[in-house]
Amino acid sequence: MHKVAIVGRPNVGKSSLFNRLVGRREAVVADFPGVTRDAKEGLMMHQNHRIVLIDTGGLWSGDEWEQAIREKAEWAMEGAQAVVFVLDPREGLSAADYEVADWLRRLGKPVILTANKIDSPKHEVHMAELWGLGLGDPVPISAEHARGLDELMDRIMVHLPADEEDVPDVAPIRISFIGRPNVGKSSLLNALTGSERVIVADVPGTTRDSVDVEWDYSGQRFVLVDTAGIRKRPDTAIEDFAMQRSQTAIERSDVIWLVVNATEIGDHELKLANLAYDSGKPVIVVVNKWDLVPDDELKRTERELNEKLFHISYAPRVYTSAINDYGIHEMLAEAMKLYEKWKNRIPTAELNRWLGIWTVKQRVPNFQGRSLRMYFMTQVEIAPPTFAIFCNRSDFVTRAYEGYLLNRIREDLDLAGVPVRLKWKEKG
Ligand code: GDP
Ligand code: GDP
Repeated sequence: MHKVAIVGRPNVGKSSLFNRLVGRREAVVADFPGVTRDAKEGLMMHQNHRIVLIDTGGLWSGDEWEQAIREKAEWAMEGAQAVVFVLDPREGLSAADYEVADWLRRLGKPVILTANKIDSPKHEVHMAELWGLGLGDPVPISAEHARGLDELMDRIMVHLPADEEDVPDVAPIRISFIGRPNVGKSSLLNALTGSERVIVADVPGTTRDSVDVEWDYSGQRFVLVDTAGIRKRPDTAIEDFAMQRSQTAIERSDVIWLVVNATEIGDHELKLANLAYDSGKPVIVVVNKWDLVPDDELKRTERELNEKLFHISYAPRVYTSAINDYGIHEMLAEAMKLYEKWKNRIPTAELNRWLGIWTVKQRVPNFQGRSLRMYFMTQVEIAPPTFAIFCNRSDFVTRAYEGYLLNRIREDLDLAGVPVRLKWKEKG
């Protein structure tokens, strides 16, 4: 596996860069005995390569580059094939920067000199001092504005050995269970992974006592995020804590299972649905304890779900009973299906064929005799699929019409159940 370390003194932007590169795939466990919490490890994908990124940021206490820090850093960087040395040229170089440069030169690992906080070309003038470090040409980047990252990655990749095994590598799908306490999240997790090998890994360095469960199923790797066992922190109300945990779990996952107790649907379900909606990630509503709903209550339960979950009305529902193993497979199948669609890219030609048919067939909103015209459509992002539509007047687009259009897009373009976003652009 490839391994790349990030070094640099405090405040130059190491963790910003780390977060940028690792993104939502963070949280691979770093468990360095003795230095827990000092170095952070994350997994990133780049051109089908898995790269373990190590942020040594936590090793520095003040601005001094001391022997003890150096030793820890050498140890944390063991096996790294390249080192990204981050500097902040706008701030100017400090004595510590020169010491680190000396140390890196002696270490003999390839160093990519990285000038961060170059938010715009005008900041490049500050870079002149960096050539004096004798570590080659610096790469200008801005971790905050995601500038220069492609070039940085290119420079890193040069030093990583071509690794055949990495090529077919498929990243795990990260799925979180969110829901109030007692809705059956742990029971579902057990029903799901029951006969399989389950590895429970603690995530160190956080106040959360969370667990991620790594799980292989039919050759697909999964990470089940933040699930079992946690009840409450003493200083918070159970429900508040559940909300906080849900937010964190959502951020760290690709797909969300929003678990509700079929016999007890309340305002928390509404709040959770909103959190899920805002994330833009695919949600599957898992209506658990279905075995407890009497036949004459089915209609009422459905009504309640529609009402509380209107914000994510596009989300598929799966009815489960963890204690009877009912619906468990479907829950997983839906998650995999949505994940694929969520990451899909639809060719522009196909989109415009659809738009052409659509605009001929349908009435469009009009405003004092003028009507909305849509000229061109393209997909600008995946995960969630985000489409830009070029039109004459974006102010003619009402909320209702946009909602209507989104539903048509989901239906006609095989995106059922997937969160979809629209951007309107005016073409003069
Ligand atoms: P670390 O101590 O090296 O991990 O640095 P951080 O990532 O915590 O960043 C330190 C500060 O620099 C924070 O206030 C960041 O918002 C800021 N920062 C990081 N990257 C950039 C950048 O590219 N441009 C600008 N202007 N500020 C940045
Ligand atoms: P969590 O707090 O969301 O992880 O919920 P648990 O998995 O700990 O379940 C809470 C309680 O609900 C336990 O007593 C479970 O046995 C029970 N339970 C979970 N799923 C079901 C179900 O599908 N049907 C019924 N009847 N009980 C369930």
